Amino acid sequence: MSKDDSSCGRDSCGCGENDETADESFHPMGEDYEEEMREMLDDTEYDTELGMDMAEDAMALIQGEISEAEFHDKYNEAVVEEFDVDDRPTVDAFEEMNAEEDESIFKKLTGGGDIADKLAGLDADTSQSRRDTMKKMGAAGAALGLGGVASAQGGSSDPKDDEYGANPVGDTSDEGTQLGMVIDLNRCDGCLECVTGCIEENNTSSGANWMYVLSYEDESTEQENFLVRPCQHCTNAPCEKVCPVRARHTRDKDGIVLTNYETCIGCRYCQVACPYGVNYFQWGEPDTPFDELMGADGDYDEDSLKEMDYEQRNQLLTENNDHIYDERGMWSDSRPPQGVMGKCTMCPTRQDGHSGEEKQGTVACMEACDAAGMSAIHFGDVNDPESRPRQYMRQRAEQEFARDTELDNGEQWGETVTPWAKLSAFKLLEDLGTRPNITYLGNQPGPEAEQVEGPVSYEQIGVTDNRKEHLDQYTFGAGDD
Ligand code: SF4
Ligand code: SF4
Ligand code: SF4
Repeated sequence: MSKDDSSCGRDSCGCGENDETADESFHPMGEDYEEEMREMLDDTEYDTELGMDMAEDAMALIQGEISEAEFHDKYNEAVVEEFDVDDRPTVDAFEEMNAEEDESIFKKLTGGGDIADKLAGLDADTSQSRRDTMKKMGAAGAALGLGGVASAQGGSSDPKDDEYGANPVGDTSDEGTQLGMVIDLNRCDGCLECVTGCIEENNTSSGANWMYVLSYEDESTEQENFLVRPCQHCTNAPCEKVCPVRARHTRDKDGIVLTNYETCIGCRYCQVACPYGVNYFQWGEPDTPFDELMGADGDYDEDSLKEMDYEQRNQLLTENNDHIYDERGMWSDSRPPQGVMGKCTMCPTRQDGHSGEEKQGTVACMEACDAAGMSAIHFGDVNDPESRPRQYMRQRAEQEFARDTELDNGEQWGETVTPWAKLSAFKLLEDLGTRPNITYLGNQPGPEAEQVEGPVSYEQIGVTDNRKEHLDQYTFGAGDD
């Protein structure tokens, strides 16, 4: 829904009234994509400018330009007005900030002196701090618009020392499990088996390719290359920060980013705030009816699930080979219902054991890639040095190191050269601060990369590819400063 009211009160709404950077795109995928997102929001019943503003500031938030509390505060009133609720995950930081302010107020009131003077001083202080906050927000928005993805804060790989020195896998903070992938682009041959595997597992509707493989040519490599792109399951996910009803969320136990299909209201704000373009809205009736989804014929309903404790619920879901609800009883797997947002889930019902022990720790796209004999996708806990992705990384680093050392008769490399240093690894748009949990091995697409037809077309596997035009225009070079 567009905002006809031109007397917009927000600082960076994009309407041009108050925003000095209105003509410059905040979105990493560029101005045209931003415009497309705006038009897309116009087709929903929700406030377009609120969605655009929040997406813009979510980009500033993940770069550490503004705080969670400031972000929450800035949009709280508008979100409540639009959705009757504000359940964004930033509320905790906001409440903490308020508690601190209350404490400071209490100190002022109890610190002696005339109470009327203190109250007057307090009013002045509070309005001053709000003005400062809003000023900072404006500056952050401008910096983001001008600086784009050049600002790199909090997004770099967290070095973990092991036998090779700094590990390029990334967020190895050892704070519990973090599921993710290492994808070796050198092994991918563009067969699209992973795309098919994901569709079969999740019954996604035509055009909703949660797994997407781009074929491209790049001047620097002069050969056909592939970029295998699921959702990046970002640790610092901007899509999550803007969801007014907290349908988009990160699971505590394994760090995967999911959508609670029963909570999602289809506002599409997450789609605008995602820098990677991996969200697919389920416009119409899904191709696969609900009762054909795996496990949907289980002898239970949602209400009875809610009454059960964790153990009972999980046992029931496992017995029914449930492929819909995760272990908390939230419908967050398989294709979404009509009017709800979908994207790659990292197959949570497999991770929860509902598809049998042998499927735990696997995802359908990896299984399909393995079955095709390519083994380009390696899924697992990227915080665990013994997981498949981490072991694979070590193996590849050793191979590269041994190969180059042999070629140079061991003379060129001094003690400071480690196997990791010989490995070409990257994460997509890492400088944004999203902290993606997909690590790629191989060459990063350069600014001159051009999308081309792959060896297997999407038509050949019976799938609509409505992403090509977008990706051709926007993805390549998006991360270049
Ligand atoms: S890549 Fe996935 S987790 Fe990251 S912002 Fe986009 S939708 Fe969210
Ligand atoms: S579309 Fe759904 S998941 Fe996305 S922001 Fe809106 S309510 Fe949240
Ligand atoms: S992890 Fe699961 S949902 Fe994601 S692309 Fe692979 S098969 Fe699809």
